[in-house]
Amino acid sequence: MAELALTDVTKIYDRGQMALDKVSLTVADREFVVIVGPSGCGKSTTLRVIAGIEDESSGEIRIGGEVVNDLSPGARDVAMVFQDYALYPHMTVAGNIGFGLRRRGMTRAEVRARVAKIAEVLEITDLLDRRPAMLSGGQKQRVAMGRAMVRRPKLFLFDEPLSNLDARLRVSMRAEMRRLKEHMPTTTIYVTHDQTEAMTMADRVVVMNAGRIAQVGPPMQIYRQPANLFVAQFIGSPAMNLMDATLTDRGAEIAGQIHVDLPGPTDAGRKVVIGLRPEAVRLSDSGLPARALTLEPVGQEIIVEFETATGNRLRSRLPPDTQLGEKENVHLVFDATQTHVFDPETGTALSRPV
Ligand code: ADP
Repeated sequence: MAELALTDVTKIYDRGQMALDKVSLTVADREFVVIVGPSGCGKSTTLRVIAGIEDESSGEIRIGGEVVNDLSPGARDVAMVFQDYALYPHMTVAGNIGFGLRRRGMTRAEVRARVAKIAEVLEITDLLDRRPAMLSGGQKQRVAMGRAMVRRPKLFLFDEPLSNLDARLRVSMRAEMRRLKEHMPTTTIYVTHDQTEAMTMADRVVVMNAGRIAQVGPPMQIYRQPANLFVAQFIGSPAMNLMDATLTDRGAEIAGQIHVDLPGPTDAGRKVVIGLRPEAVRLSDSGLPARALTLEPVGQEIIVEFETATGNRLRSRLPPDTQLGEKENVHLVFDATQTHVFDPETGTALSRPV
């Protein structure tokens, strides 16, 4: 168990590809941090640099206070779980989990005891004599996790470990990961492109974009107070609605017509982007005229896309019993307390809901 600290870590690949641009991040002892971001943003590179599989171009990496830049992967005492599990096909489950321990010189009896304990935690005791070919995807995933956990490393590094599993299994493995987190707290960096995994498992979420950290914070803070347009659009499904607007004395105006109240004084005349989550767009008897374009009933709610009289497309989540037909004309109101304001040039949040 240990704290991880990255300071200005930069990685430029051989052909000049800047994969990490001065990434600084501190992960507390026993904290579970999920790095999320689109493909190519540098998530895997971050993990590989921490593990020592890839050399950083500059910057410092500390594990448990010790600078590890010059240590080999083996000497860093981290355990990595990949999406393809990489189990040894000719060994049993017990052999796979215990392999690293035997190489470290533990006696057979010690290895057996540790493997049994881990198998119990992961609920795979009845699989210990099987070979990987006789396991389901979810079972293989557990074995791969067991192999990482049995060593009691300082850090766990997970690279999209659930991405090869079907949707139902992913849900149960997410719950499993949360249970393991309580059971065996170890500093963990977990990489995924799936925002649901990030939101449901993380103590803190790190959102990455183009080799940089766009925001770090607890999941609900990332959702409620995105620091910039990138995070606002990446986190949340359906995505946040965005509209060009101009600030006025009292709030903001969209297309010179629609007034949106904003809390606090504003910088009249300034061009901004207004952001509204789908839950902040509601039907009303009066307000912004709009037409329903598409209706998507998803059980507990209906997701409706509207086209407003100002030419904006807005998505709203409405209660499942809402009486509304396609092409129907309605009026929309916005929840002023949930309005985000961004700078159109830099993307930085100028004001956000508290
Ligand atoms: P992610 O895991 O977020 O999908 P990666 O860390 O794999 O992103 O990649 C970050 C960037 O570095 C991408 O632009 C990718 O093309 C590039 N990259 C990754 N690995 C290599 C490599 N071995 N050689 C050159 N460029 C690479």
